[in-house]
Amino acid sequence: MSVQKISLLPEEVSRKIAAGEVIERPFSAVKELVENSLDAGATEIVVEIQDGGKKSIRVHDNGSGMSREDAALCLERHATSKISTASDLLRISTLGFRGEALASIAAVSHLVLKTFDGQGEIGTQVERKGGELISVQDIAFPRGTRVEVRDLFFNLPARRKFLRSDKAEAALILRWMTAMALAYPGVRFLVVHGQREVLNCPAVGSVAERLFQLFGKEALHRLVEVDFREGAHLIYGYASRPPSGRPDRAHQLFFVNGRLVKDRLLQAALQQAYRGYLEKDSYPEAYLFLSIPASDVDVNVHPAKAEVRFRDSQFVFYLLLRAVESSLLQQKGVKEIYPISRGPLAHPRVEESVSPGIYEEARERDGRETGELFSAREEGAPAGPRVLGQYLDSYIIAAAPEGLLIIDQHNAHERVLFERYRAVDAEKRWPERAPLIPVLFDLSPSQELSFEDNREFLESMGFRVEAMGGRSYALQSFPDIFEEEEAKETLLALLEAIEGEEALPKREKALATLACRTAVKAGQTLNREKMDYLVEELFRTSNPSLCPHGRPVLLRLDKSQIERGLKRTT
Ligand code: ADP
Ligand code: MG
Repeated sequence: MSVQKISLLPEEVSRKIAAGEVIERPFSAVKELVENSLDAGATEIVVEIQDGGKKSIRVHDNGSGMSREDAALCLERHATSKISTASDLLRISTLGFRGEALASIAAVSHLVLKTFDGQGEIGTQVERKGGELISVQDIAFPRGTRVEVRDLFFNLPARRKFLRSDKAEAALILRWMTAMALAYPGVRFLVVHGQREVLNCPAVGSVAERLFQLFGKEALHRLVEVDFREGAHLIYGYASRPPSGRPDRAHQLFFVNGRLVKDRLLQAALQQAYRGYLEKDSYPEAYLFLSIPASDVDVNVHPAKAEVRFRDSQFVFYLLLRAVESSLLQQKGVKEIYPISRGPLAHPRVEESVSPGIYEEARERDGRETGELFSAREEGAPAGPRVLGQYLDSYIIAAAPEGLLIIDQHNAHERVLFERYRAVDAEKRWPERAPLIPVLFDLSPSQELSFEDNREFLESMGFRVEAMGGRSYALQSFPDIFEEEEAKETLLALLEAIEGEEALPKREKALATLACRTAVKAGQTLNREKMDYLVEELFRTSNPSLCPHGRPVLLRLDKSQIERGLKRTT
């Protein structure tokens, strides 16, 4: 006989479980509340958070508001004004539709909702704590809705423990709010964290103006417009102007019918559109808005509604591919400068992008012919791995007594530089360089927040930055391992890499970013001298087989494997 016994969970337990699926962290609550404000047609949305949203979240909008009846009902599970039959699920045009967000938030916090629809006599205030109704009362309130969420997860201590630092939680919220601000340029967004206004963008008439507000004037220079229509399908937005892209995919945002989604298919289509246009190891930046008939997208596939499913995914793939391709083709001259047939694109400033130190040293070390150097090494002392040549302009093939090595040149150089920078950093002696004319640049809201939090840290690494008002900043000095333009790009990458990080991992991350930015790239031709130098330096590091990001640096093909393969074994 089975000893198992099934019992139904008490209502209050099942409610918390359900809530936990939708509301994972302060960001999820902000997301649901702001989506509600947008669904209610708001043109102004103010988000105020305390302690990264853990202590309180307040979202205030000037949307439609709710009647007394609706206000009392909206905190119940499965209470929604957005759909009423199952077939409505096939054509959803709002951001919300399940009618469970407010109930879920209320189940795990102390929630106060104030609203007025401009119709009746007076507004309504509803208060709930842990899902229990505390009060419903009359209040005077302007048309719109304000939801205040205090002490999120007060009754789910385990969940509370898993939250990240206040800064990290706030950064997550700000990043998403920035994305929404892009998608809804006609809405004014204000985000305040504690006393600090972290995002403030008045309503504007176009995505271009929003890009300008959010990322500064340079954004429009480095992007091209995408505007493509096919039947009822529309793709609009902005994407990288070749040849420069970004070092990772963090700047690719896809919106499907106003909803920010994560989608591999769209990423892949974008990547394909840029094949042959971008430098190696860089990814396009893109803010693309897809407008697709509601009946062709299923939005009900993910608990946080962060993914969608397309009815005809192949069609959507090619739609995006063609949309971006046709914009790129219109960019006169781009193709001629960077013809696809050339294969992996060489970095335009091969020599400069390499840390000057390391190669100057190499150059100085020997005025001899490389052949001489080579043979000298063979006769002479310690038999380290010996370079045989370069493969695909990306890998160094070397011979060691135990077998052959295939060394990833970028990862290897990263390892070498990382250790060198760590030594420099430990002694706090970053050699600085101050250009005559400071390098000017703009910061996005997230970068700005990271900058304010990390100002001293950055100075300790040799980056001195002055705020010029608005989003503009001037780089006064930087570590002299960089050229000016590089220094600026690295600073931006650093701001993102260290955002919300604690002290120690922060330093390691920053050093790894510097190493990555200054290391040789894949696709760069290296001469014998450089390869020799790099391999020699690599084997002096504490860990030649891993790069600072934890990726492998080399593959070994053992002598015994070679012999076995060639049936040389006796
Ligand atoms: P959903 O958005 O999936 O319908 P929610 O729990 O988020 O579910 O909200 C329940 C209902 O409450 C919504 O359908 C809407 O009618 C109403 N509502 C929520 N927030 C607002 C708001 N800011 N302004 C007007 N109505 C709102
Ligand atoms: Mg909702």
